[in-house]
Amino acid sequence: MSNGKAQGSIPVTLIPGDGIGAEISDAVVRILEAVGAPFRWEIRMAGLAGIDAHSDPLPSETLDSIRRTRLALKGPLATPVGGGYRSVNVRLREEFKLYANLRPARTLIPGGRFEDIDLVLIRENLEGLYVGFEHYIPIADDPHGAAISSGVNTRAGSRRIAEFAFDYAVRNKRKKVTIVHKANILKALTGIFLETALEVAEKYKGQIECGDRIVDACAMQLVLNPWQFDVIVTTNLFGDILSDEIAGLVGGLGLAPAGNIGETAAIFEAVHGSAPDIAGKGIANPLALLLAAAMMLDHVNRADLSERVRSAIDKVLNEDQVRTPDLGGKAGTRQLTEAIIRRL
Ligand code: ATP
Repeated sequence: MSNGKAQGSIPVTLIPGDGIGAEISDAVVRILEAVGAPFRWEIRMAGLAGIDAHSDPLPSETLDSIRRTRLALKGPLATPVGGGYRSVNVRLREEFKLYANLRPARTLIPGGRFEDIDLVLIRENLEGLYVGFEHYIPIADDPHGAAISSGVNTRAGSRRIAEFAFDYAVRNKRKKVTIVHKANILKALTGIFLETALEVAEKYKGQIECGDRIVDACAMQLVLNPWQFDVIVTTNLFGDILSDEIAGLVGGLGLAPAGNIGETAAIFEAVHGSAPDIAGKGIANPLALLLAAAMMLDHVNRADLSERVRSAIDKVLNEDQVRTPDLGGKAGTRQLTEAIIRRL
């Protein structure tokens, strides 16, 4: 792995990850170096590599590094089969209070089902039905006769994610935020979210337009007329579902990046998995991780550089027609990487 000739001023924990992780991270590091990104990498292990080296998919030296840098770029991690390990993503989310999951969806290759999609979904990531308050109660001789789950949305948590969404809209020159909920039925659980987000919206009146949608109507409208949306902010479970729906609008998870923003750290990643079937073959597509790195450049206020990266990606895919096999092309990871560097 290239470790960077020019050492930047911002330390970042780089977790190359499993499977194709090393190949795509190496490509991303080379491209970021070429654009002059201000990052200094601390390379740390997680996933299967973490288990091999430290018997833990999230070794303490990796956590310590993120505690120090407060910024990480994470390659795909394979989930170990058996062994009873807790999910690395859940541990990171809890440790760094990663309350906002940021999922942009933008058309990169025209000719798909929808043209010119450019929207961002912001999902609350710590509350709602994901808090894990679940239990069974026995009925007659069935110990699992009924299952009960409670969701928790706090006013503070709702305010925090709504403020994040409106601030994001302002910083990224977006026009509109749509609050997505189910307050007509889940009157308390998602009512508090809607009510609090509308209060936050008041502060941005005249600056950012605000609307709200019931989740089922939103799901349909995303398919009928996705261009009406700009930034969507929603609760944990709805966000989980809608973020995959919007990835589907632009051709699936292959080019989807994600940011996880928290109180004490921000972690950027590709949404796809470790793709063990093509690992080591030199054909992995590094663009989802590169787009995640572009989000990280935005996060450190270097939109000047992230724009150059995104524009180079557009030109390479559409003018140079250099694409990896998953995008219908014949280029390898190295060829695509070099084409992007030429376009920077
Ligand atoms: P995991 O359990 O790690 O999520 P998975 O096989 O369920 O693994 P992915 O790893 O995302 O899911 O792979 C799904 C398919 O997409 C595989 O055929 C894989 O080769 C392909 N794929 C995923 N990411 C890439 C990529 N960056 N470049 C090329 N092909 C990819």
